[in-house]
Amino acid sequence: MKKKRKRRQVGRTVRRSPGRGRVRETGDAVEDAPLREKILRGRENLGALPEEASRAELEGDVRRGRVASIRGREATVEPDQGGELVPTMLRRSTRVPHAATSPVVVGDRVGYLVEGEPPYVLTEVEPRRTRLVRGRRGGEEHVICANVDLGVMVSSAAEPPFKPRLVDRVLLSVQQGELAPVLVLNKVDLVEPVEVDRMLAPYRGLGLPALPVSAATGHGLDALVDVLRDRTSVFSGQSGVGKSSILNRLIPDLDIRTQDVYGRVGKGRHTTTASTLYPFPFGGAVVDTPGIRSFALREPTADALTGFFPEIFAAASRCRFSDCHHRGDEGCAVPDAVASGRISRDRLDSFLTLMEEIRGG
Ligand code: GDP
Ligand code: ZN
Repeated sequence: MKKKRKRRQVGRTVRRSPGRGRVRETGDAVEDAPLREKILRGRENLGALPEEASRAELEGDVRRGRVASIRGREATVEPDQGGELVPTMLRRSTRVPHAATSPVVVGDRVGYLVEGEPPYVLTEVEPRRTRLVRGRRGGEEHVICANVDLGVMVSSAAEPPFKPRLVDRVLLSVQQGELAPVLVLNKVDLVEPVEVDRMLAPYRGLGLPALPVSAATGHGLDALVDVLRDRTSVFSGQSGVGKSSILNRLIPDLDIRTQDVYGRVGKGRHTTTASTLYPFPFGGAVVDTPGIRSFALREPTADALTGFFPEIFAAASRCRFSDCHHRGDEGCAVPDAVASGRISRDRLDSFLTLMEEIRGG
């Protein structure tokens, strides 16, 4: 029987490594030892690599996956190849391409070495495509989760009543961040369809996905699934709008977990935030961030308002004074636009509130 060709594996491992800018793949002719040395040299600034770990990593079975949950230095990984969740450990040898404050978070793409008994050693954390960040005033950023695509703002048509100002504020900050905003209007079974259209019209005008649903009747959930499919989402919205009810519909076996997730238990508590990734049965996943009730994490800027309230800026271009506050100022063109229906009263209220916040600092 032929001997296993270890050098081939060496080449393959190196090709997938993010350190490849410094470490050239030199083909089968290269001996193991010099190659390992080169790799070690390339990693000089990343701390010493234990001898056994490096050899094991070069020759071993490194697999890829996505972090589903974190506890201390332990990360549970969802393997790309499917199957059971895998326990892994962050080690000094783990290559981390970003600041050390949040070395590995839920949603991170990782490599791990399958050797011996789990927990397996994380070989690397990949660069993040997007980050959900909680800024610390005057301090370092704290990354809550990585590689999330959609910021889903859940609101309700009634009980509690629709709150356009809150919705605007959250969607605006999602847009300023790295996520794509989605608006879900739940409990549409409680109001007339014409009311639903009135609530959603401004957002549809902006080209945002604005989806009427009812977790109670199942109305609109197919359309929501189409938006969520194969993407990673984070849900936000005030308590009682129906986030848990919607997620329970989308993930039939979520049940009890939702209680911890969005139940009233975790709120206001001062524990470390443990985010969790729950896969959707139709592809994609939702990240639960219990410490965060809203992803309104960035303060709105005047610039962002322009993009979010185009109809108001269009009207305001005809105001007599460029510093017009649109609050009964002389020569203001906004009241006409409201009277003619080009600007909705809710949107104007929302705009004026946000503008005041920005002006007030
Ligand atoms: P969360 O705090 O956002 O997670 O909200 P929950 O999922 O716990 O729902 C709050 C309440 O609203 C519960 O009593 C739900 O039964 C109810 N609810 C959720 N979705 C709907 C809906 O589509 N229609 C109606 N009528 N009630 C709903
Ligand atoms: Zn004006």
